[in-house]
Amino acid sequence: MDKKHQINLWYAFIAMMMVLMFQSWWTTYKTVEPIPYSQFEQYLKDKKIEEISVKENTIEGKFKKPLKDGKQYFITTRVEIPLADELSKYDVKFTGVVQSTFIKDILSWILPVLLLFGLWMFFIRRFAEKQGLGGMMTVGKSKAKVYVETDVNVTFENVAGVEEAKRELVEVVDFLKDPKSYGRLGAHMPKGILLVGPPGTGKTLLARAVAGEAGVAFFSISGSEFVEMFVGVGAARVRDLFEQARKAAPAIIFIDELDALGRARSSGPMGTNDEKEQTLNQLLTELDGFDTSSGIILLAATNRPEILDPALLRAGRFDRQVLVDRPDKSGRRAILDVHAKNIELDPAMDLDQVAQLTTGFSGADLATLVNEAALLATRRNAEKVTQQDFNEAVERVVAGLEKRSRILSEKERRTVAFHEIGHALVAANLEGCDPVHKISIIPRGIGALGYTMQRPTEDRFLLSTRDLENRMAVLMGGRAAEEIVFDEISTGASDDLQKVTEVARDMVMRYGMEASLGNRAYSTQRQNFLGQPAGDVAEVSEETQREIDLAIKIRVEAAFTRAKDLLNDHRKELDQGAELLLANETLTEKEFPAIRPVSERQENAAAE
Ligand code: ADP
Ligand code: MG
Ligand code: ZN
Repeated sequence: MDKKHQINLWYAFIAMMMVLMFQSWWTTYKTVEPIPYSQFEQYLKDKKIEEISVKENTIEGKFKKPLKDGKQYFITTRVEIPLADELSKYDVKFTGVVQSTFIKDILSWILPVLLLFGLWMFFIRRFAEKQGLGGMMTVGKSKAKVYVETDVNVTFENVAGVEEAKRELVEVVDFLKDPKSYGRLGAHMPKGILLVGPPGTGKTLLARAVAGEAGVAFFSISGSEFVEMFVGVGAARVRDLFEQARKAAPAIIFIDELDALGRARSSGPMGTNDEKEQTLNQLLTELDGFDTSSGIILLAATNRPEILDPALLRAGRFDRQVLVDRPDKSGRRAILDVHAKNIELDPAMDLDQVAQLTTGFSGADLATLVNEAALLATRRNAEKVTQQDFNEAVERVVAGLEKRSRILSEKERRTVAFHEIGHALVAANLEGCDPVHKISIIPRGIGALGYTMQRPTEDRFLLSTRDLENRMAVLMGGRAAEEIVFDEISTGASDDLQKVTEVARDMVMRYGMEASLGNRAYSTQRQNFLGQPAGDVAEVSEETQREIDLAIKIRVEAAFTRAKDLLNDHRKELDQGAELLLANETLTEKEFPAIRPVSERQENAAAE
């Protein structure tokens, strides 16, 4: 039954009770006359009473003849004390009064019951908390867990060093400030924006800042909270979240740690997790069911976008991703400025130097650093926080971070810088390669120490032999640079090697690009019964296998030589680029034109 109907029934019931009570009171009032006890004795003496019934506190009875106003019954409160005889002698009017014990009665049995109930609840709660079954008591009361902030006081000023992400989110703020006129040209906001980045880079902070800037309500919930024990609770909670936000629109709904909830639905042997699946399905339904004209924007954050269910990332859902990356040097400086506002800083303090020392730190690490420095200064009873405190704090924080292996030594940084510039320069000097967009030596995650981002000029579905060979040369550019500069190679290229081998292998085995082996495929991409790739199946003789291996090896070697030759020709740029990269940590084509594609550079030269 619907909640509303239930309420209506209650009203009807109460009204009926009231009518009945009134009726009974009215009939008594009309026919029964309450009289004082002395009056009763008088009536008695006058023989006016036909019959009585004696109750504990009262006497009720019937007159022989109705009174003047037609009342034939009476009620009186008993006063049976010796004094009564005396009183009637002297013509005193006297009345009995029964003291109401109603409240006393109620208290005497309701209080213990309440007390018992309270105790019982208390113990159940305690038990539930201990068992981590917090959800058990909140079934059906899911509202409690939705965290609403109507007056967010975080703004973009509090978030520093993530300028690109901010630029993307400014648009969302504009939209939330005035959802109506935003759509006047028919444009509509993406429904869901996914903030992607390593932990501690300020994703949660950014989401709150968007709400703060736009001055709208901020509904947030964390994906990990959805992991409940009862099937259906999570789904109910999602429904609730959207319902509340709809009422408060314009508003932001923020789902933190989306990966905990939106993990790809498994088809593994362990079966499925019904609860998670239901919750995820509910989220998808809600996403499809609302449109941004209602003034609601959905933000989510994750540091593991790769494990998200693909259904979440489909068009019309979380179709825009905003990268919130670890800050570079200038970004770190800006973040330090934000947090240093709250502490007493020595005027001689050089925050630039601190920024220099903290490669790989996230925003949260920097916040910790500033706090740590302030603590150190407090401990030595100083007036201000000095450079010395910061240096010591850096050491402490780094020690903590090193366990997570993110901090590089100077030698390692140099190697990484040359490696990345190597990739970029090879890409820039080969005709038809995707242009390099950005190079960085800020460690990313555990595997990658740096990265070179290429910007595809167009979607490509067909690749020529030349394209693939170029791609392989670019992949080998990192290791080639290391060998040229340091005359030794490092483990940093393992990921590149894997990729390059894959390309070569595909060329030989799948695309029939090896003349000596003929135009045939030597591998078939098979799928297991669940539709997942089950790897290549060799269907060749041992001799052919040897030929294939050799062909792959030759191709990879050729790519390496090509990259090395190219870089030797551009040795000057290689050194320049690496120095620049070491100083700035990130490099774009604007800052270092040598990594622009050859064709573009020639065009420019011709134009000048
Ligand atoms: P995430 O959600 O990406 O893991 P948070 O937003 O929770 O990171 O950041 C944790 C804390 O670190 C913030 O409250 C803030 O004090 C600090 N912080 C992180 N990134 C930044 C930044 N870009 N600018 C300023 N402070 C930051
Ligand atoms: Mg967070
Ligand atoms: Zn590389």
